[in-house]
Amino acid sequence: MNNPYDILFETVRIGPVVAPNRFYQVPHCNGFGHRMPQGLAAMRGIKAEGGWGVVCTEEVEIHHSSDLSPYFEGRLWDDADIPALELMADAVHKHGSLAGIELVYNGYDASNMYSRVPSLAPSSMGTIGGSGYDPVQTRRMDKDDIRNLRKWHRDAALRAKRAGFDIVYCYAAHAMTVPIQFILKRYNNRTDEYGGSLENRVRLFRELIEDTKDAVGDTCAVVVRFAVDELLGEDGITHQGEGYDVVAMLAELPDLWDVNISGWSNDSVTSRFGGEGHQEKYISFVKGLTTKPVVGVGRYTSPDSMVSAIKRGVMDMIGAARPSIADPFLPTKIREGRIEDIRECIGCNICITGDTRYVPIRCTQNPTMGEEWRRDWHPEIISPKKSDKDVMIIGAGPAGLEAARALGQRGYEVTLLEARKELGGRVLRESALPGLNEWRRVMDWRMTQIKKMKNVAVYPSSPMTAAEILETGAQNIILATGATWRRDGMGRTLRKPIHGYDLENVFNPDDLMDGKQVISNSVNSNWVIYDDDHYYMGGVLAELLAEQGCHVSLVTPAPFVSFWSQFTLEQERIQHKLMKLGVKLYAKTVLSGIESDCVRLTDTISSNEIELQRDGVVLVSDRISNDSIYYELNPALEAGKLNSLRVIGDAEAPNIIAQAVFSGHLAAREFEEDNVEGTPFKVERMTI
Ligand code: ADP
Ligand code: SF4
Repeated sequence: MNNPYDILFETVRIGPVVAPNRFYQVPHCNGFGHRMPQGLAAMRGIKAEGGWGVVCTEEVEIHHSSDLSPYFEGRLWDDADIPALELMADAVHKHGSLAGIELVYNGYDASNMYSRVPSLAPSSMGTIGGSGYDPVQTRRMDKDDIRNLRKWHRDAALRAKRAGFDIVYCYAAHAMTVPIQFILKRYNNRTDEYGGSLENRVRLFRELIEDTKDAVGDTCAVVVRFAVDELLGEDGITHQGEGYDVVAMLAELPDLWDVNISGWSNDSVTSRFGGEGHQEKYISFVKGLTTKPVVGVGRYTSPDSMVSAIKRGVMDMIGAARPSIADPFLPTKIREGRIEDIRECIGCNICITGDTRYVPIRCTQNPTMGEEWRRDWHPEIISPKKSDKDVMIIGAGPAGLEAARALGQRGYEVTLLEARKELGGRVLRESALPGLNEWRRVMDWRMTQIKKMKNVAVYPSSPMTAAEILETGAQNIILATGATWRRDGMGRTLRKPIHGYDLENVFNPDDLMDGKQVISNSVNSNWVIYDDDHYYMGGVLAELLAEQGCHVSLVTPAPFVSFWSQFTLEQERIQHKLMKLGVKLYAKTVLSGIESDCVRLTDTISSNEIELQRDGVVLVSDRISNDSIYYELNPALEAGKLNSLRVIGDAEAPNIIAQAVFSGHLAAREFEEDNVEGTPFKVERMTI
């Protein structure tokens, strides 16, 4: 029988080059950039090995006057930057895939704080990149500047060709580059032939495409990335308005259309706010206007949805950033019919925090992401066991499940014991909260894999004490016993327990996740959530209570609610949702005391105090590691009664789910390996 997904493995001609299949890793940031070319090349190479027919770079700055620092993107400022990018193109070619490069000139998005030259843009305006509020204004480009930009873009295209790239981008999306900034009415107030009518505003984009084709189009595909809708209504591009018109005007000019919605938080919407295929309704018109191949994204992880998108004529190639990060081998698994082995992206955007926090890319689902070069980790391959030793793992949250899965893959005999009736730990509990359902994939994928392994035995409903562990005679113990939310409100802001934390109806997140009756009895009651955690939990619990009909106040010492979610591109959406639900928000405010019927809030700047009525209070502050068994077992280790003992995940140090998975994976990789002295991974250092 034919593979029902055969269509995904058809070749696609893109101008002068041919992609081996329809899997297209669109450009995505990664935190490596020009700083860590080895890490970057190895990461991209793994995607090609996993079957992505096209593998692209991130934004690559074409000139020092488009300097995106402090972010680490690619650079092709001059010839000296070629070898680093050549590494990546070679890594991709090794597996028969095409390498694409996204050339960018960032205008309003670049504050040039490293290069210290003026940023150039269609008009003079405060820059919008970086912090978003850098005290930097652009210089309006004159005709010479436009001529220079065209030359820089052309030179960069020639360098890209020398570096070995097959596909060269002209990038006009996300409002991040000069060509789109010229197109956007709100950013272009020019009165020359580059301003005014749409035709004038598109002129630079058209010229850049033509220049690039002229320079490298004989051997390289020249493609565009274009935002067809910004979800801003009449203030921006819309897919029924100028988005449509631009595609119609340039229809046959590029060799391929890579189309999306912008800005980045719309394009890479998290699963809390958007699902698979969320862009289809905006981009589906494009194929009707061009004969050139069309690429679209929409966090596609299901091969049926991919086939459907192609058969319905929405796109020709399945574009993906996040699905290729969560599973670089997604295409291979589809080709081999191993659908249940696909490690589906959960849409959490931790990968994006690599870029937004200036560290190498990390992924919740794929602990090897970003570790390909420095730790030599492969997403599918792991070294086989070194002996017939067996391992006992206590706790089946993300850390314990991943440790069991990866040790099982190595061939060890593994026993996984979990106190609760159901596996999954915090993932099971948290994925039941509003909007987090897709996070279940973290446990579902691992449980599916473990079920196939005869050498991994799983025992739910098995709470273990240190004495019971010793009684089993097990010699190698991994403790993945998680962490518990504090009850006293102590955290980074309050360094002693909140007055009144022990009164009635003061809860922590565990209470709400465990006992839903706490909530359902509470319609019309007044709830105060104190959030000193700052990621999703405080906001999600506010949503949960508000949806149950409670009057909710969310109090946080941070400048705005769910502060850290700005790095996953969610903060504004979260705040918007909470406001729509009627949640009252108190930023830069600390919960200074709890009484039986009210709470005291103190403004962290003015020290002014107010009181709020309360029926219930939820304290979302620090967590306490469940590590007591570790300390109880330590003497047995020291007495030689145990061979090895390791504590991992939140039991070692509370952190995000991605870190628990990573910690479990690390423990499995390091089991029976020699301890390395010093830094346990390779570091990319400058040679001096
Ligand atoms: P992590 O994020 O580190 O994986 P979790 O809190 O998600 O941590 O998971 C820890 C799991 O360990 C929970 O499912 C919990 O029920 C289980 N657990 C904790 N202590 C024990 C114990 N003594 N015996 C068995 N299971 C335990
Ligand atoms: Fe998907 Fe989250 Fe991994 Fe990003 S970090 S690829 S959103 S699972």
